[in-house]
Amino acid sequence: MGIEKAKNYVGGKWILPEHCEWLDVHNPSTGEVVGQVPISSRSDVDMAAARASEAFREWKNLPVSRRVQPLYRLAAMLRENEEEISRTLTLEMGKSLPDARAEMKRAIENCEAACGMPMLQQGRNLIGASSEIDGEVLMLPVGVFAAITPFNFPAMVPFWFFPYALATGNTFILKPSERVPFTMQVVTRLIDKAGFPPGVFNLVNGDRGAAEAILENPLIKGVSMVGSTNVCRIVAEKCARAGKRFQAMGSAKNHLVVMSDARIEDAVRNMVTSCYGCAGQRCMASSAIVAVGEETYRNVCDRFTEASRNVLVANPLDPRYAGEEMLMGPVISRKAKDFILGMIETGISEGATLALDGRNLVVKGCEKGYFIGPTVFTDVKPGMKIHSTEIFGPVVVILKADNLDSAIDIINRHRYGNGASIYTQNGYYARKFKLETEAGMIGINVGIPAPVAPLPFGGMKESQFSDIKAQGREIINFYTEHKVVTERYWPER
Ligand code: NAD
Repeated sequence: MGIEKAKNYVGGKWILPEHCEWLDVHNPSTGEVVGQVPISSRSDVDMAAARASEAFREWKNLPVSRRVQPLYRLAAMLRENEEEISRTLTLEMGKSLPDARAEMKRAIENCEAACGMPMLQQGRNLIGASSEIDGEVLMLPVGVFAAITPFNFPAMVPFWFFPYALATGNTFILKPSERVPFTMQVVTRLIDKAGFPPGVFNLVNGDRGAAEAILENPLIKGVSMVGSTNVCRIVAEKCARAGKRFQAMGSAKNHLVVMSDARIEDAVRNMVTSCYGCAGQRCMASSAIVAVGEETYRNVCDRFTEASRNVLVANPLDPRYAGEEMLMGPVISRKAKDFILGMIETGISEGATLALDGRNLVVKGCEKGYFIGPTVFTDVKPGMKIHSTEIFGPVVVILKADNLDSAIDIINRHRYGNGASIYTQNGYYARKFKLETEAGMIGINVGIPAPVAPLPFGGMKESQFSDIKAQGREIINFYTEHKVVTERYWPER
């Protein structure tokens, strides 16, 4: 059997792009090549945009109650095929199977939330806006939308966008991360069966070149970008210049604050899951702990380092461990591993204490995999590079603050503001934290405060460019033109 090649799905047909380069896709646990992804060209993207634009003409006029029918079918098929998709996801991305299944649940949840569009896409009117004049707000579809998505949530992130875009009457092009193309291959096979007319949903594989072609195609009216802040900034600038709608959700360094009254054993267990799940490669993963007061700091350093030492690191598809809730797999690539190892060197040279060193970990039978063990730095000062940089791996820094104000100040001075959590039983601390902390998603005794599908997902500061967040009710504004009609009728003579 030959090696699997990912295909594009354009105008309702599976297409193997011709005359393009192919990139190897690796299983990060073993380093083995599991398939190849096409590096689609500008003409592949332009063809998808043309098909999506043609499909828009009829799709936008279909009653909303009929537009959501394929989404109902898709949600049911996703549930039936959840295990196959989760295994593909784990194979190419490296997260544990329970994490992959949890990701699928959130994807399905978004699909179901978008099925509510007949209730959600209702405009409003103001009878008597002026003398014998009424005002009406129409929520109309806009055209072709696209999403450019990252490697760490190959199934969930696309679902933050396309179900809502389609249900509101738009058509769609998805460009997944070139590092994890196979999850959306399996999902798109189901989309193909769900009954959308050809061209309503399109999949174009590729790298930065395909993404740039999306940004420059005039038929595409809006782009959702999720990835690193440097790329988000480029996407935001290009979209603004081209007059496209955009939302761009970027990097993170999420903080966990531990107060002296916290339930420390529960907090440590919760923090371990937050910091090491998906090998620290969740956009909501925490990687900086701020302990308030000397005694809490000592206690957190000791207990968290000890708990980190006990984290199971293994190939997530090894049948001996496949059911383990807290299993840490590899990071995504050799390049990512080298970057993380370099950041550990940086931390040592900056004078932080390496309390737990994950550099020399070997997973038996997976010697070529991209594994790094849990790594903990203590005596970290705000502004050290290991604190200011998104490391995106299993490296945790622990800082000390004198009081809650100083802890909030450490978070607010940071360039990123995706998520932040506090561990406390004290309502005054919790309230102050949620009101004053500059992060888009706040947790109170919740280490991964990732909102459910009906609520908006997004950060602040350099974690998010644009004001509309992903998923939930708010994204309907992104996908609709709020046309306002002012109307008057004169009496018949
Ligand atoms: P990345 O920025 O390398 O790539 C993301 C996507 O952008 C890919 O599809 C890639 O092909 C494309 N791309 C790369 N360079 C581009 C360019 N110059 N112009 C246009 N497109 C380009 O990100 P990644 O490594 O795949 O993902 C990890 C990053 O994503 C982390 O920084 C993480 O915090 C972030 N992330 C953020 C959220 C959030 O909700 N804020 C969610 C998931 C991931």
